[in-house]
Amino acid sequence: MQIDIVTIFPEFFRGPLDYGIIRRAREAGLASIEVHDLRAFAHDRHRTVDDRPFGGGEGMVLKPEPIFECIESLNLASRDVRRGGDATQSVVLLSAQGKRFDQGEAERLAALDRIVLICGRYEGVDERVSQYLADRELSIGDYVLSGGEMGAAVIVDCVTRLIPGAVGNEASTRQESFTGGEPVSQEGPKSTCVSGGLLDYPHYTRPAEFRGMAVPQALSSGNHDEIRRWRRRSALEKTMRNRPELLLDAALSDEDKRLLTEITGKDS
Ligand code: SAH
Repeated sequence: MQIDIVTIFPEFFRGPLDYGIIRRAREAGLASIEVHDLRAFAHDRHRTVDDRPFGGGEGMVLKPEPIFECIESLNLASRDVRRGGDATQSVVLLSAQGKRFDQGEAERLAALDRIVLICGRYEGVDERVSQYLADRELSIGDYVLSGGEMGAAVIVDCVTRLIPGAVGNEASTRQESFTGGEPVSQEGPKSTCVSGGLLDYPHYTRPAEFRGMAVPQALSSGNHDEIRRWRRRSALEKTMRNRPELLLDAALSDEDKRLLTEITGKDS
C-alpha cells in the first residue's frame, strides 16, 4: 500500500512511523509512506499556505491552491474513479467535522492500494478541499486537535497493521476489540473467538501470582472450552462496563445472551 501524507510539518512524522509493526511493514515493502511538504507547493517568497478567513473571525485558514496542486502532483485516479464502486485510492481530509474514524473504516482503507492523508492546521482547511478534492473527511474522535498530523499518524498505524502480512499472526487482528464478524470459536490450544464487535478479552501472562494478585483460574485450567467461555464472558463484562453501546451492534450468539443475562442478573 502506498500512503501519502500532506502536511506543513513533514518533520513531525520522523518517529511515530518508525517503530514496531509500521517499521517492519515498511521494511518488508508492504507499506510505502511518503510525506509531502505543503509549503513546496506555495509559490510566493514566503511560501504562504494560509490566509485570513472570508467573513472575518479568528485565526487563519489553509489556502486551497497549494493543497490542490500537491494532490494533483501525485498522479492519482480522477475523483470520479476514486469515489466509484471499484475505487482503489482515497484522498482523506483530517477534520474534526469528519465522519468518525473507526475499525470498520480502517478495514475499508486497508483494502485500498493508495491513501492520501491531508493534515489541516490553524482554524482548518478551505472548505473547497472537502467539497471538490477529498473523497472522505475523517475525524479521529470528538475532540479538537491543533493539527491533522496526530490523526494521520493514528490512521496510518491502524491501517498498516491490517495489511495482510504486517502482523505475524493474522488471526490476532481478527479477534481484537471492535473487530466485526461472526464470533467463530476455534478448536485447540489457541481456542478463542473473534470479538464480534465487542471489546477484547483481558490478557494475562506469567507470573501466575504477582504480589498476591492471581491470574483467573480458568486460564490455567488447560480446558479449552472453559478458557473460551471465560474469555467471552469477560469480553462481554468489560464491554458492558466500559462501552455498553457496542452491545447494540455486536454479533451475539445464544450463549452470549445467556452470559449477559448472568452478568446483569436480569433478562437482556
Ligand atoms: N476549527 C476546527 C478545528 C481546526 S483544528 C473545528 O472547530 O472543527 C486544525 C486541524 O486539526 C483541522 O483542520 C484538522 O485537520 C485537525 N483536527 C482537529 N481535530 C481533529 C480530529 N478530531 N480528527 C482529525 N483531525 C482533527
